Amino acid sequence: MSSHSVQCVKLGWVRCFLLKCTGGYLLIDVYYPGNYAKFEKKLARTGIAASEIKYLLLTHHHDDHAGFAAELVRHTGCQVIAHRNALSALEKGEYEGTAKPVNRRLQIVMAFYLLYYKLFHKGEWDFPPVRLADRDIIIEGDNDEFLKGIGIDGVILHTPGHTRDSISVLLSDRSAFVGDAAMNFLRWTGVGHRPIYIEDINIVYESWRKLRERGARVIYPSHGNCFSAAKLEKSAGLAIST
Ligand SMILES: [Zn+2]
Repeated sequence: MSSHSVQCVKLGWVRCFLLKCTGGYLLIDVYYPGNYAKFEKKLARTGIAASEIKYLLLTHHHDDHAGFAAELVRHTGCQVIAHRNALSALEKGEYEGTAKPVNRRLQIVMAFYLLYYKLFHKGEWDFPPVRLADRDIIIEGDNDEFLKGIGIDGVILHTPGHTRDSISVLLSDRSAFVGDAAMNFLRWTGVGHRPIYIEDINIVYESWRKLRERGARVIYPSHGNCFSAAKLEKSAGLAIST
């Protein structure tokens, strides 16, 4: 684990990370709607109270990352940090639907999963709207200042490709919390560490290059275990049509 004070709460297939900041914690991402009570319970095991969450950084607008964000804000009064490109989807509580499976094998796997999802879940990737107010923080691109101002030695990087609103947190110890900009999930489908859904694979690779150039050494994805950032180069060399 990172040498900074980092805690992890795992909810289903998503890992939510908590970074110590001035006066409390910054939480990176939440989970699907309807899981706030479960989150609070799991959070208690780390010794952190929900009231200590001062900031919620959304790596992007997808329902498995922003699902109970509005509920968390209601309970804790925390400030939301999101990229400008996330605002319209967050305000509508809707999945933008611009990401596609990264390869053919995954397309088949996801077709079965989507069928299962439609049969057993109501709704279509939607979630309670998250309306950012004046007190919230809108990220325009890379931001080297904000985290330092709240006592976290790190930067926020714009890392699109999975979605146009994707942002990552890179700490000074070279740990990178990347949301879905990279994954360690369903690797048997030949995806390597690529996101299983992408808007543009070349933009994903540009984001990976940026993470590496800025010094990322260990990648903490939302889906799957952390891995060495050097593996990104290997994954980028895989054929997209696997
Ligand atoms: Zn996503």
